[in-house]
Amino acid sequence: MSGNTTFTMIKPDAFADGNSGAIIKIIEERGFRIKALKLTRLSQRKAGQFYAVHKERPFYKDLCDYMSSGPIIAIILEKENAIDDFRKLIGATDPKQAEEGTIRNMFATSIEANAIHGSDSDENAQIEGDFFFSELEKFYLD
Ligand code: GDP
Repeated sequence: MSGNTTFTMIKPDAFADGNSGAIIKIIEERGFRIKALKLTRLSQRKAGQFYAVHKERPFYKDLCDYMSSGPIIAIILEKENAIDDFRKLIGATDPKQAEEGTIRNMFATSIEANAIHGSDSDENAQIEGDFFFSELEKFYLD
């Protein structure tokens, strides 16, 4: 069982398509509580840092271009078993593989423009939340 905090981003495609509200509604209906939230935009360099783990992958440059192409919404969420439950809710990376009812099945347009991010471990949730939010902005987590 994972810890009770995860980090998500509504990615540029979903924000641009006007799906942010619908996605946040689903997330809240599934029992996740919003602990911190901001509308922001990644520069190429910041997108590169965030996805540094994929540096050697052939899609890295495209991914950084895409992730810096428009606004995103960064959110820290809380729920029991947050990481596992949220990964289930967003579905597989490739929307063609994502089960019906998952956010990516409903809103993603391609394996790259797949609407939403979800941390894959407690450790990464902490790192990714700290990437976007200052100590002051995380006041509600205490
Ligand atoms: P996630 O944990 O499901 O988000 O997937 P990964 O950590 O493997 O990949 C990070 C992000 O890179 C994905 O969410 C996609 O936006 C993008 N991505 C993953 N695989 C591919 C790929 O094969 N091609 C392209 N263009 N983008 C990809």
